[in-house]
Amino acid sequence: RTAILWLRRDLRVGDHPALVAAAEDGAVLPLFVRDPRLARAGEARSARLEASLAAWDAASDGALVVRAGDPVAVVAQVAAEVGAGSVHVSREFTPHASSRDNRVARSLDQYGVSLVAGGTPYAVAPGTVLTGGGTSYRVFTPFARAWREQLIEPPFARPASLRWRRTVDSDGLDAGLVERGRSFGPVGEEAALEQWHRFLDEGLHDYADHRDRPDLDGTSRLSIHLKHGEIHPRTLLADLRRGRRGQTEGARRFIDEIAWREFYADVLWHRPDSAWGDLRGELATMRYDGGRSTEELVDAWREGRTGFPLVDAGMRQLLETGWMHNRVRMVTASFLVKDLHVWWPVGARHFLDHLADGDLASNNHGWQWVAGTGTDASPYFRVFNPVSQGKRFDPDGDYVRRWVPELRHLPGSAVHEPWRHDEGYAHDYPKPIVDHDEERREALDRYQQARGTS
Ligand code: FAD
Repeated sequence: RTAILWLRRDLRVGDHPALVAAAEDGAVLPLFVRDPRLARAGEARSARLEASLAAWDAASDGALVVRAGDPVAVVAQVAAEVGAGSVHVSREFTPHASSRDNRVARSLDQYGVSLVAGGTPYAVAPGTVLTGGGTSYRVFTPFARAWREQLIEPPFARPASLRWRRTVDSDGLDAGLVERGRSFGPVGEEAALEQWHRFLDEGLHDYADHRDRPDLDGTSRLSIHLKHGEIHPRTLLADLRRGRRGQTEGARRFIDEIAWREFYADVLWHRPDSAWGDLRGELATMRYDGGRSTEELVDAWREGRTGFPLVDAGMRQLLETGWMHNRVRMVTASFLVKDLHVWWPVGARHFLDHLADGDLASNNHGWQWVAGTGTDASPYFRVFNPVSQGKRFDPDGDYVRRWVPELRHLPGSAVHEPWRHDEGYAHDYPKPIVDHDEERREALDRYQQARGTS
């Protein structure tokens, strides 16, 4: 008997309930379907996914089968080719994935093949953390409290006996994309576990103090691995529960961040419309700018030429590495929404196009948090000042100097204010494209108007 394991973003062998279930059903045929509807996933993410698939292929002794087309047709076709009795998946929760999986299940059903969902990319499945009244949570803190109480599932052991089935044609992987994907850092399950263990040994202790500092290597850098399912949050949480590590302030903060990831997935599950529209209606009449002159400003933002050093450093880090530090994601997002007065989906799209960890739920709700339209949003009137944020969180200027070569000649925190130094513009760094204080006032005026009319 053959069981298909239809891989989407769950590219590991350990702690993988769908793989365990497939292995119990027969020889496992790992299948990836190149869905043309997802072609717009963003170059960084697509390339990183390809590299992750290559790592999976190596780990499964070359068993991976890749086919292009609509999964509704392709999965049923491969199932028929190999006479599979079941197709196993880790359940997905974005609006597109949920409706796709329903259609695939119906099409398989016609052939008497079942689509079996085993596990999810989350420690607790979205949609299952509910209030006493059976409704979803709209605010993070009570969600996180209830979520923690449900964290009881231990990691899944690797299948006791695992046989790969490899007798069907595969379109193969794109070697160029794989290589590009590898440029975003180490790839695959082994690399993810190594990164995690290094963070446990070297980073967790100071995580609470260092996580806001883009100049330090103070965070886990697991987001890209988590995005592609190379490591599961259940594994992380179980490791933290062992011994006394989990009681430290660093561990508590880290678990909170994992909870944010789970919260946003839960919000998206309950409110699929929040993927690309304001979650809360209060700012429905907010005036945003568009048009040609704004387009030029937005281009400067996209390319890291705003003249605000921390913003430019972040935007360049994104373009060059497919990742940006969380604090800088907040500052750059705030700059687009509140200094340039641009509606958040424009920025969310750009991030998804370039982040190797780009995730619809975390990204778009992160944007809504900054824009003041999301769940427990930072209030709209809290406008990040890109200069003081730089001086506070990159106190010696190392982060800016790393990403903005035109400012490398300025020492220490001088990089955050080139306008104060005679030599500040000696290497063609651009002048600020807007006056922050003026745009802050403008943002607050627009906010008052929107509040007044909603
Ligand atoms: P760590 O600090 O080590 O955190 C550990 C893990 O917790 C992360 O890997 C991530 O899975 C989760 N996490 C941490 N912070 C958050 C958060 N604020 N929201 C949700 N999950 C979090 N994260 C993504 O994974 N994909 C995105 O597309 C994404 N877009 C964002 C856009 C904006 C505007 C903002 C403000 C945040 C965004 N985040 C996103 C959240 C956060 O910035 C990244 O998860 C984090 O920077 C990844 O680095 P790390 O793995 O070293 O994080």
